[in-house]
Amino acid sequence: MRLLEVDKLEVTFSLRQGALTALRDVSFTLEKGERLGIVGESGAGKSVVAYSIVNLISKPGVITAGNILFEGQNLALLPEKDIRRIRGNRICMIFQDPMMTLNPVLTIGTQMVECLKAHRTVSTRKAKEMAIAQLEKVRIPSPETRIDQYPHELSGGMRQRVVIAIALLTEPELLIADEPTTALDVTIQAEIMDLLLGLCEQSGLSLILITHDLGVVSQVTQRLLVMYAGRIVEQGLTREVIDHPQHPYTQGLIKALPESTLPGQRLNQIPGMMPTLAAIPSGCAFHDRCGYTLPVCRTTVPDYVDAGRSKVACHWVAEQGVEP
Ligand code: SF4
Repeated sequence: MRLLEVDKLEVTFSLRQGALTALRDVSFTLEKGERLGIVGESGAGKSVVAYSIVNLISKPGVITAGNILFEGQNLALLPEKDIRRIRGNRICMIFQDPMMTLNPVLTIGTQMVECLKAHRTVSTRKAKEMAIAQLEKVRIPSPETRIDQYPHELSGGMRQRVVIAIALLTEPELLIADEPTTALDVTIQAEIMDLLLGLCEQSGLSLILITHDLGVVSQVTQRLLVMYAGRIVEQGLTREVIDHPQHPYTQGLIKALPESTLPGQRLNQIPGMMPTLAAIPSGCAFHDRCGYTLPVCRTTVPDYVDAGRSKVACHWVAEQGVEP
């Protein structure tokens, strides 16, 4: 069953030097209980997608076109007071840095109780019991003691567990996790991703996972969007996209993984850099980094075509009908 449908979303930042389009023609769907990954280099627009869904795009960014249907309600048109009833309640977000969510001068328990009381009619005592149960679910040892501690008394991994516990207190339908493990040690990263996966599977929670780490998305998500310069360039089943990447940019990302390189060899890199919003090239935004560029790539934005079981925006793929 469909939970979210993003249709031709466009986000523009109006700056003194002119309007910059941060997202263009972004369309995807998410089913109930589905886990979707969004990957791409920094500046690809991954986080702008997430912030658009919960109407947290920082000014002067605005949604200039498109719809965001959440269970049929168009979030792109809802007034802020109505969005507030959904954000932090039915759609929750976790960020790279747990301290973006946690208040350093309040105990974990106070923050969890406040969150519950903001969204539910519940006594303080009951809210505290629910908070302790939630801390147990995210595998925090001795939750009855931890609940009275301040964020700085916990390790980075524990803090991220607390943030997940707070996000799930209201039993949301959708969790958006924006680089949730980037700031953590590798071993802790694996534990947190394992926890998130388990929680999604147990409760049928839908997940949008934003990351630059293809290894993480391959373990956790079922479908994948690859973004470049504010546009989706490839989308399909995660396994399919990773095993049979069709778009030259996706192929470059996969070739750049350390596991694609033999010991002693230099890491493969995609030549050049992601363009800034102010300097997105005409035609296909990837044309000056691509090894397959055709004359049309420099002038015309590619439409989406079916390639294998994925959808890809690429003239070369469209022309060949097979992967380059
Ligand atoms: Fe490369 Fe052209 Fe495809 Fe863009 S459209 S990825 S430049 S072949």
